[in-house]
Amino acid sequence: MYDVAIIGAGPAGASAALFTAKAGKKTVIIDNDKSITKRAWIENHYGVMEITGPDLVEIGKKQAAKFGTELIEDTAVNIVKTDSGFQISTESRQFDAKHVIIATGLGIDLAEKLACKRNRARSPE
Ligand SMILES: Cc1cc2nc3c(=O)[nH]c(=O)nc-3n(C[C@H](O)[C@H](O)[C@H](O)COP(=O)(O)OP(=O)(O)OC[C@H]3O[C@@H](n4cnc5c(N)ncnc54)[C@H](O)[C@@H]3O)c2cc1C
Repeated sequence: MYDVAIIGAGPAGASAALFTAKAGKKTVIIDNDKSITKRAWIENHYGVMEITGPDLVEIGKKQAAKFGTELIEDTAVNIVKTDSGFQISTESRQFDAKHVIIATGLGIDLAEKLACKRNRARSPE
């Protein structure tokens, strides 16, 4: 049983894992390596002048792992509520966690399957 399961290891998911793992919560990230960030060249990220997307994502994963986050390469296909939290089904196995953070970026299949309410994305004005 994990305290927190995070779906997605892009900047959103890895940042969340940094904080949960550093706070002593047993954390797992499940990610299927389709980050949109990996296509980016980034020049406006705090603390770095410029960095490639793949480097940013790899550093984020290493930081999360450094504080004890377990990284699993797999696709989450369903999440169901249980008495003690949630059960996450991936293509190959199942994980139990008290809390789940969905940080799947542009990948909305899972959120739609769970009927999560979404806000339509807006471009900056
Ligand atoms: C060319 C380009 C340039 C950009 N430049 C900048 C910039 O300069 N500055 C800036 O601030 N932003 C920039 N962005 C935008 C920025 O990349 C994104 O807004 C942000 O990085 C998205 O992070 P994320 O963690 O939400 O999503 P992602 O990085 O996409 O991570 C989501 C992760 O979830 C995983 N996932 C999805 N569904 C599942 C599932 N069912 N099971 C398991 N894993 C799953 C994916 O594999 C992925 O690894 C740029 C984007 C692009 C494409």
